[in-house]
Amino acid sequence: MAWFTRQKPRIAGNAPEDAARHVRTEGLWLKCEGCSQIIWRKALEESLQVCPKCGYHFRLDAETRVKTLLDGEWIEYDTGMTSTDPLEFSDSKPYKKRLSDMRKATSRDDAVIAVEGKLNGRDIQLCVLELKFIGGSMGAVVGEKITRAVERSIDKRQPLVIVSSSGGARMQEGADSLMQMAKVSAALMLLDSAKIPYISVLADPTTGGVTASFAMLGDLNIGEPGALIGFAGPRVIEQTIRQKLPQGFQRSEFLLQHGFLDAVVPRPELRNYLARSFDFFLGPVV
Ligand SMILES: [Zn+2]
Repeated sequence: MAWFTRQKPRIAGNAPEDAARHVRTEGLWLKCEGCSQIIWRKALEESLQVCPKCGYHFRLDAETRVKTLLDGEWIEYDTGMTSTDPLEFSDSKPYKKRLSDMRKATSRDDAVIAVEGKLNGRDIQLCVLELKFIGGSMGAVVGEKITRAVERSIDKRQPLVIVSSSGGARMQEGADSLMQMAKVSAALMLLDSAKIPYISVLADPTTGGVTASFAMLGDLNIGEPGALIGFAGPRVIEQTIRQKLPQGFQRSEFLLQHGFLDAVVPRPELRNYLARSFDFFLGPVV
């Protein structure tokens, strides 16, 4: 391999090998997890993180999701709300430390963003879970912020959209997390009595206590293509029922076929789909 490796010493005074001689291409291109083709990152950004070749939906962070759904400006509510660590929980690191690390990494206070803005001209309340923040898990803060969004929906008579991507209830807050399932569900019942529509969008992945509460309680439950949606993981289910699970089990297309979802909508069409649904429920925007 001597042909390819430099045997003689470099000429003195030349630029150091590493810095100047290598063009950095890292970050410009990306391998699609669906079709394994190489895609230009900019093309992916323009198509809302959907592979232009195979339609594979990459995951979106909460803020980008808000941008893709709303017309322009929005108001964010309940910022600065943080968990108190009631159990003084510690696993591989103390929960307090995990929270502060997550805050630094994601620049969010917890795993949900709650905003008000316009969707194709109609005022809506929108909550989006942030998967990067401890797996989008629901603790007291997520439960409280979503409950408040539901209450704002009722007060202002604005429809509600929640986009979920979450591992479920947050282990580190124990029963406090589980209680949020009942709290949010009860609030959604009030929304239902007030006859204000709520559409749940389930992105990849939506599992556990989030699926078992608000994510499946929409007037419409809409999945993103290929999203993993379920309560327990497939291995746990196989061990419990002692049967092999069918192909594509717990993916949104399978759930649509079996009546758990109302629609599977590709991301580029989602905003118009939501707008049309609200037109259907409430009449056109005046
Ligand atoms: Zn692809």
